[in-house]
Amino acid sequence: MTNHHDYYAIIIGAGHNGLVAAAYLARQGKKVLVLERRAIVGGSVVTESFGDDFSVDSVFTGGALRPDIVRDLKLPLPAVKEKPAFISLQPDGNHLMLNAESIRRFSEKDAARWGEFLRFMNRSAEILDVAYATIMPRLPMNFGIREGYGLLELGLELRLAGRKDMLNFIRSLPMTAQELVEEYFESETVKAAVASLGIHGFTLGPMGAGTGYTLIHNWMNRGGLAHVNVGKAGEITSALANAVKAFGGEIRTEAEVSSIKVENQTAKGVVLTNGEEISADVILSAADPKHTLLKLVGSRELPPEFIWHVQSIKMRGSMAKIHLQTDGRHGIPDGTVVLAPSINYLEKAYDAAKYGEISKNPYLEINTSGNVVSVHFQFAPYALKNSNWKVEGLEVEKLAIDTLAEYFPNLQSSIKAAKTITPKNLEEIYGLTEGDLNHGQLMLDQFLFMRPIPGWSNHKTPIDNLYLCGSGVHGGGGVSGAAGRNAVKILK
Ligand SMILES: Cc1cc2nc3c(=O)[nH]c(=O)nc-3n(C[C@H](O)[C@H](O)[C@H](O)COP(=O)(O)OP(=O)(O)OC[C@H]3O[C@@H](n4cnc5c(N)ncnc54)[C@H](O)[C@@H]3O)c2cc1C
Repeated sequence: MTNHHDYYAIIIGAGHNGLVAAAYLARQGKKVLVLERRAIVGGSVVTESFGDDFSVDSVFTGGALRPDIVRDLKLPLPAVKEKPAFISLQPDGNHLMLNAESIRRFSEKDAARWGEFLRFMNRSAEILDVAYATIMPRLPMNFGIREGYGLLELGLELRLAGRKDMLNFIRSLPMTAQELVEEYFESETVKAAVASLGIHGFTLGPMGAGTGYTLIHNWMNRGGLAHVNVGKAGEITSALANAVKAFGGEIRTEAEVSSIKVENQTAKGVVLTNGEEISADVILSAADPKHTLLKLVGSRELPPEFIWHVQSIKMRGSMAKIHLQTDGRHGIPDGTVVLAPSINYLEKAYDAAKYGEISKNPYLEINTSGNVVSVHFQFAPYALKNSNWKVEGLEVEKLAIDTLAEYFPNLQSSIKAAKTITPKNLEEIYGLTEGDLNHGQLMLDQFLFMRPIPGWSNHKTPIDNLYLCGSGVHGGGGVSGAAGRNAVKILK
């Protein structure tokens, strides 16, 4: 602690990225305080109870922190060894399981190329993982030694990937998911099942440019097609919160920051909604960039061009989550189950979102944990053209159940209770501006050195001592923790 401030660092938001940043700083012996507006920690990575025997990962479905973060922070989280099934529902009941044996029922040729596709995707995910661990330079500004070193590592990783993999990786990023899967497969069923991963969580259809990148992004986060660690979200963020405290850090819940105090273009502390002021040498915000910069800092403190860029960040939440507590007779198999019968079906589901409508024939992804069935519903746009989320929540719930019941006839009668989370709930309860899962869409003009905005990709802001460390910055999106850790590296 210096300058007589209360803390060395205040971290806004106890999502996994805020907790990762706080744990690394506390491990260095720094005096840190995490402030969380909700009554519980975890942000989107959280397990909540909605009634007796109705406990569920309410938002995020499954994934794991980077293994090096788990090691550094000595988190009691076992390495992920499971390889859950990924199943694509078919109207005739001839469901596709994404492995060579099952694919053979749809195409001998596709089954023969499955291994090659897996190798390409795993290699691409490794390269992306290194890119996410690298602090991006503030192009076109000069960059410092830390960014330069990271870039060298990234360049080396690309070089080591070999000419063919490197080129294939780079050219697949701007491709559409459809184009990418068509390079490998001929069966519409196989193509659509794989391409669905490219639109999961994004307001994009599989014919949209850049869904090649998002396909690799989601593959990297899951370690393949299916979610891992389903039902264990709370364990990840509890382990992180315990680590923060064990290293001497403090966490306060029900402590909403209403503004960041700025004097002479320098962040000095925060003001809470109850009026309390707390000072710190540095402020790291794991809340999304729009919320942090437009609401907590405010446009008076920031250059007009910067403000314009922040206002232009594309936040386009368009998903809802439906949790069903059942008596266990739902009939849905274990693993990650998708309703993605064809590329055209997925693109048409997305078409609705373009016009501010809820997809009547949605892309669904279903995961079960015990007796609870969780349905990820796309597309349910935050900004509805002719309605609002006060009335549409029940409609989405009904649509999801009716659609699924066509495949699982026992589902309807097995439901005991339901809890639906709309894009508006994601904003109001979980603090996600416009219900955007990743604090900003992962698109070609919002990634690498353009995340969150061009020229400000190294966690810094025009306000001295104010840093961004959540999913809206490079390395973010998903639950790797890279954004939180990278932000701490730039502080040194
Ligand atoms: C429905 C949904 C499903 C998802 N599924 C997956 C998935 O399966 N796999 C995957 O890899 N990723 C998934 N994601 C994305 C992933 O969960 C997020 O990218 C990640 O959890 C974000 O972590 P974070 O720490 O950056 O931010 P968050 O988890 O959003 O945490 C930010 C925290 O800041 C707090 N906060 C905001 N403003 C303030 C304030 N003014 N004062 C105090 N506190 C504040 C919020 O309450 C919140 O706790 C999903 C996201 C959603 C919403």
